Amino acid sequence: MLPFKLVYSEKYFLPIGEHVFRADKYRLIRERLLGEHIADESDFLTPQPASESDITLVHSPHYVSKLMEGALSAREELQMEIPYSPQVVDAFMLHTGGSILAAEHALQDGLCINIGGGFHHAFPEHGEGFCMINDFAVAIRVLQNRGRIRRAMTVDCDVHQGNGTAAIFGGAKQHSAMLPSSSPATLGSRSGVSMNQSPAEDVFTISLHQEHNYPYTKPPSSIDVNLPDGCVDADYLAWLDNALSSGLRQFDPELICYVAGADPFCEDQLGGLNLTMEGLKQRDELVFRVARARGIPVMVTYAGGYANHVEDTVAIHCNTVVAAAEVYKATASPR
Ligand SMILES: [Zn+2]
Repeated sequence: MLPFKLVYSEKYFLPIGEHVFRADKYRLIRERLLGEHIADESDFLTPQPASESDITLVHSPHYVSKLMEGALSAREELQMEIPYSPQVVDAFMLHTGGSILAAEHALQDGLCINIGGGFHHAFPEHGEGFCMINDFAVAIRVLQNRGRIRRAMTVDCDVHQGNGTAAIFGGAKQHSAMLPSSSPATLGSRSGVSMNQSPAEDVFTISLHQEHNYPYTKPPSSIDVNLPDGCVDADYLAWLDNALSSGLRQFDPELICYVAGADPFCEDQLGGLNLTMEGLKQRDELVFRVARARGIPVMVTYAGGYANHVEDTVAIHCNTVVAAAEVYKATASPR
């Protein structure tokens, strides 16, 4: 039995037909976790769908009513890049309920993983890039609304920038500067870190992503790390370590929402970074170790993953659970 819970529903499946986004990955992850005895049945929690009043804490009532009534324009549906149906809306509401449940259990157990969610390209007024509802932004607002937390940090390690999250929580960008301690010599001069000097008061957003990739307009996060094409494990981990230290020097969150995208993988169809499967597991361990050492609860969502072979995406997502088990099973912090 794991020292934390996994949130999953068979209804996480999104009926979107033949698609680069393999919506059956959630079921395959659960089957692999059970098949390899990484988890057992008792580790899983079943979520309830989020309510309309939950999602309107982030999304505009106008957008929400269009989702509920099937009134998106053809252009809006095109921008979403997945076909609209009421069943797809139901699935997104369930992923969002899963993120709310995971956030609550993270506060209780120190960590909780939603085997879904991470839809970071959803904006208050529209969806895009396979994302209809920004599930973890909603979870943050719901927990704030319940008085459970005041301050949260998002740590987005999907290969694509978290533009929706940045738009939801970000403020106007004042100016950019390189982090004082951040210039690994191996990185090209085009890559760099942008610091938004006036982050939202209650939510601090960090995004590590490939600079030359979707989304081509990147609203400022509190910290954006724009990685060069082909970035390898060691450089990636150095940038992540740096961004986490910098973020946690500036901001003291009561919850971290970790967006553990599988698409920085070297064989991803929609990504141009060069991380190995082992490097991605080390990435997860780094986030968990830093959070655990500081006593900050972490809720995890899975976001993207479009490897040439779906079993690689599934293995990367399962490794996130393995990494968490290794870090959170340790009974005492290392001296
Ligand atoms: Zn992605």
